[in-house]
Parts: sequence; C-alpha cells; structure tokens
Amino acid sequence: MQKNEIYTVSIDDLTAEGSGVCHIDGMAVFIPESAVGDKLRIKIVKVLKNYAFGIIEEILIPSDDRIVPDCIYHKQCGGCVFRHISYEKELEIKAKIVRDAFERIGKLSPAFLPIIGCESRIGYRNKAQYPVSADKNGNIICGFYAQRSHRIVPVNNCLLQPDIFGRIVELILSYAKEKKIAPYKEENNTGILRHIYLRKGHYSDEIMVCLVVRKSIERELKGLVKRLIDEIPGIKSIVMNINPYKTNVILGNKNVTLWGSDIIKDTMCGNEIEISPLSFYQVNTPQAERLYAVAKDFAGLTGKERLLDLYCGAGTIGISMADKAKTVLGVEVIPEAVENAKENAKRNGVENAEFICGDAGEIAKKLADDGMLPDVVVVDPPRKGCDGQTISAICKMSPKCIVMVSCNPATAARDCSILSTMGYATEKVQPVDLFGGTGHVECVVLLSRNEG
Ligand code: SAH
Repeated sequence: MQKNEIYTVSIDDLTAEGSGVCHIDGMAVFIPESAVGDKLRIKIVKVLKNYAFGIIEEILIPSDDRIVPDCIYHKQCGGCVFRHISYEKELEIKAKIVRDAFERIGKLSPAFLPIIGCESRIGYRNKAQYPVSADKNGNIICGFYAQRSHRIVPVNNCLLQPDIFGRIVELILSYAKEKKIAPYKEENNTGILRHIYLRKGHYSDEIMVCLVVRKSIERELKGLVKRLIDEIPGIKSIVMNINPYKTNVILGNKNVTLWGSDIIKDTMCGNEIEISPLSFYQVNTPQAERLYAVAKDFAGLTGKERLLDLYCGAGTIGISMADKAKTVLGVEVIPEAVENAKENAKRNGVENAEFICGDAGEIAKKLADDGMLPDVVVVDPPRKGCDGQTISAICKMSPKCIVMVSCNPATAARDCSILSTMGYATEKVQPVDLFGGTGHVECVVLLSRNEG
C-alpha cells in the first residue's frame, strides 16, 4: 500500500476517536468521519508499519448510521468526533469502548449495565476553554484545536457550550484587537492572551470569565471588565490567571480577581457548590448528577460507613453521599479545590465531612499506616488513573468495596485488573455519557473485597 493510492472499501468498525476502520490486504486503515456500513472511495494519506490512514474521496453508499452534522465546524474541528452519526449509534459505540477496555485490557468479565445517555448533544457543557492564537494575517482568533493538532479552528458558537459563551468570546476578541493585546505564540512563548476560559453554573446561571495571560495586564483589562459587566448578564466573577510557562497546561497557579467574586456557585445533587477557577467541576451537570447517584448506589451506604473519597475535587461526590455515611474524608491535591470542598460542606450543613490537601497516594499511604479502616473508598482519578502507591494503600486499608469513577475506561480497566490480583473483584460497570458528540465516555465501577 502506498500514499495517494485510491481504494474502494467498506467500513466495518469505529474507533474511540471516531475514525472508521476498514481492512486492505489484512491491514487496518483508519478513515476519519466515516461510519460503520459506509461504502467509500478513499485515498491513502499515510502508511505506517502496521496500519495506515486514509481520507474520504467519495461516499459511494452511506451508512444507515449517518446523519447530517448539525455543526458548521464539524469538518475542521476535532471536538465532536461522533456528530455525523446518530446519538443512538454513538451510545452503542461508547458502551462497546467501555466493554472492550474491561474485557481486553483488564481481562475482566464484570456485568455491564446499559449506558446512560445525555438528554441532548447540544449546550450541555458548563465550561469552555478556547485557545487564543493569530491567523496567518496576524489577526487574533480563538476556537478549538483540529483533531490531533494544535492548529486552531476559529469557533465562537460551539454547539456544546451555552449560547452566551459565543457573545463573551466575541466581546473579548474585539477588545483585544482594539487594544492590541497580542495573542499568545506557543512556538516561542511570547504574546499575552493564551486562553479564554468560561464557566456557567447549569442551575445558577452564574458566569465566571477567566482570562489566561502569560503576564499580568491588569491595567489594560480595566475597560474589558467594564464592557463585560455592562453587556453580559449573569457575570459574577472575572479573573485573570497568569501562566508564564511554555507548557500545554492551560492554567497557571496565580489568579487575580479583576471584578466580583473569586468563585461561582452552582447546584449539584441538591447541594450548593462553590468552585474556583482551578477546581475541577464535571462539565455536564445533569449527567454528573446521574453519575454520582450511581456511585452512591454502588457504595451501598447504610449510615454506618466511614467513606474515603480520593481525588475529591471540590468535594461534590463525598458531600452527595454524606447523608448516608458516618464520616467522609476527602483527599485532593489542588489547594483551592480543598478550600471549596470545606466551604461546600459548611454551606450545606454537612458536619461529618473533612478534607485533606495532598497527593492521593501519599495521603492514602499515611492513613493506611495510621491504621485507618474505611468501609468504602471512592476513587475518581484523572485520565491517567491511579498510581501504584494509591492502589496499594487502598488494599492495605481493606475496605469492603471500592467505587471507581473514571473518565478513561482504559486506565480504569488497567487499575481494576491490578486490584483483581489484590483481592478485589470487579462486579459491575455502569457507563455514563457525560460528553455527547465527543469521543469521551465516563464509567462507574463497583469492586468488592473477596471474602475468605
Ligand atoms: N471527584 C471530583 C474530582 C474528580 S477529577 C469530582 O467529581 O468533581 C480528578 C481530581 O483529582 C481533580 O480534582 C484533580 O485535581 C485531582 N488530582 C489529580 N492528581 C491528584 C493526586 N495525585 N492526588 C490527589 N488528587 C489529584
């Protein structure tokens, strides 16, 4: 097989990145934006040792799964890899991604519960992070990255975000143009404005505008602050985040509140929750509530349990379970999130929850060494999963069950597989779609201690 060759193929599978897969002479060829059942004329664009990539030249017979994408940016933007197929099919694929991870990577055979889908693939996100850059004429732009690239596709009315985000972005970009605030340049870490980061409480409608800059431009932003509060209803917080480093990490450590509060509030599982710019908060609030309800059900609480909530963020999961537990102890590495968690417990009258700031593995090891014996451990790690120290410490504490919440089925399956060698059986897996349209899927797993 060689670059630029043309083939006629049928798509027989779809990857988690939304690429269709066909086989030519036994070799897998990935075709973005295709669907299972498509008959296509394709052009090979890249050939590697064991697989190749192609692009669609012509759709000869379209798959029944196809729909007309409702987004004008769909072809260029790498965000919604499943927008060209029906949501029903997307859910089937996501359920399969989760099942494959546990069966193939984890070599496990838990019960798989039917995936819980979103109500809509539109407007569900409560957060957006738009990278800022310059187009080829030097004009400031922002939008989203094209797939597997750092090229920005200018987008200001993304279907996943609340409509008002588009207006805020336009206002900020026109101000930056007017005041000649330079867009950030990744290549040599120059320029000023790096990201426009927005949050809006799903129930509260409170808005936070966070401008991520390479160095402080507090004075230059005074006029923008005035325009934002005059023109955008619901703004409660305007923050400048300073990130001086040459890095892919979006936020720096330093926040300067330019106007209003340094937090916004929202409701999650009936609790009033405050969040700082640096705190994690699930992006799809109603689906997160369903996710946490499953986690609570899996935890099987009766009111007598000591609960350890590792990777607790702003405390949302532990606080949602506190009424059914004896005690809750949350552990989180971001200090602002721990402050939020403490406040969140207080503002909701939760008196049996405490929070510690530190690395989950180190704190869990210390707790285990001190003889802590929680009945239930909840873990909700970032995409890379739990580290060895965390897993060993959990096993040493010997809880009767572990509830794992994960945004990455592959690392969840890997961690469950390790736990299976340490006395914990993976009982059941509940996939929950928090990220409709995109290639991401969340799951909750129940692991039980083997008795005897
Ligand atoms: N349970 C929370 C947060 C989950 S996201 C919720 O549902 O909202 C994962 C969290 O793990 C983030 O808050 C992140 O800051 C935190 N984290 C990442 N690495 C960590 C570590 N090594 N130790 C403790 N917390 C960590």
